[in-house]
Amino acid sequence: MKLKYLVKIFILAIVFINSYCYSVIDQTKPVLVTGATGYIAGVLIKKLLNEGICVHATVRDPNDAEKIKYLKQIVENTNGSIKFFKADPLTKGSFDEAMKGCELVYHTASPFNLHVKDPKNDLLIPAVDGTENVLNSVNNTSSVKRVVLTSSVAAIYDNNRETHAKEAGLTESDWNKKSSLINNPYFYSKTRAEQKAWDIAKAQKRWELVIINPSFVIGPRINPNSTSESYRIIKQLGNGDVKWAVPKIGFSIVDVRDVAIAHYEAGFNQNAKGRYIIAAHSTTMFDMAQTLLKKYGKDYPIPRWVLPKYIAWLFAPWIDKSLTRSFIANNVDTPCKLDNSKSIHELNIEYHSLEDSMNDFFEHIFKS
Ligand code: NDP
Repeated sequence: MKLKYLVKIFILAIVFINSYCYSVIDQTKPVLVTGATGYIAGVLIKKLLNEGICVHATVRDPNDAEKIKYLKQIVENTNGSIKFFKADPLTKGSFDEAMKGCELVYHTASPFNLHVKDPKNDLLIPAVDGTENVLNSVNNTSSVKRVVLTSSVAAIYDNNRETHAKEAGLTESDWNKKSSLINNPYFYSKTRAEQKAWDIAKAQKRWELVIINPSFVIGPRINPNSTSESYRIIKQLGNGDVKWAVPKIGFSIVDVRDVAIAHYEAGFNQNAKGRYIIAAHSTTMFDMAQTLLKKYGKDYPIPRWVLPKYIAWLFAPWIDKSLTRSFIANNVDTPCKLDNSKSIHELNIEYHSLEDSMNDFFEHIFKS
């Protein structure tokens, strides 16, 4: 008899300690998503709406009806609801109104563009100051319990060569220490933004920070007009830009639908904690193109030959303005090695196959 009571007390104590340590997010409360018109944000919002959640969606220009039309259409087939708010990552206090009553905040808004003229103003400032601005609003909003920030594997490494430092690939404990405003500025902006987020999160105790570090994202889009770099890169494989050959640039890729599930789990899974590498396959630009041949090879100029590394190195600046010779040296014929085991064990992610992600993405880019 005594033992029975002791066991009951023990279980209650565990439940109490657990609920004290980790927040339970109430699904009936609104959830904020910044940068709602983005590629990743669109698929995440669709997932939240399907779960019946009320989404507070921030956009820089909610009056651009064309830009948000597709989000309004998605809501109609779900149990969820959506409310739009005007907010710019660079305007102080801009997110206060949208955040009211939210327990969970997803911060996805940040430029993903490898072709910028002014890396400081076009990448670094919107990424870092934008993160600081959103998190200052979080500090001022007592309802918020958890923030999920969309960082990137760019905050973990600078180039593929570095990813070979560990046998099973880099993990969440690794940080990008090499990128700068001159070398890989997009990677630098993501590293600095995530560091800023950790600094702000560690200075308080009310809310917790969970980071999603996706690798290169592919897969079917929701936003027909998104400007994400993901489209530009995959579009080249079918529009004739690289019709003869592509180099074996090592890529780690992940499907946008898996990235959305990872965000959902990071928000609502009580035990989600720290950083999560969300990466499905280590592949190359050439191998990605080959997955398309069976279905689309007859109708589209998909590259069938490998561009040798030395030619890519020689002509890099003419092939693509964002390609530098050091990028070719460090990433071509060198696979990207990342350890995704934490995402599988703690967020229960079951990754799509490379073929499915590529073919579904291609279908959306060229046929919708
Ligand atoms: P998108 O460009 O499609 O979305 C980003 C959104 O951020 C925009 O739609 C925009 O929304 C908002 N935004 C706010 N300020 C700016 C600004 N100054 N410049 C550009 N956009 C701004 O990108 P993704 O969906 O691909 O990326 C979303 C997040 O995921 C980013 O943080 C990116 O770094 C990260 N990521 C992306 C990967 C990928 O392969 N796509 C891989 C790893 C990380 P609005 O106009 O509504 O305000």
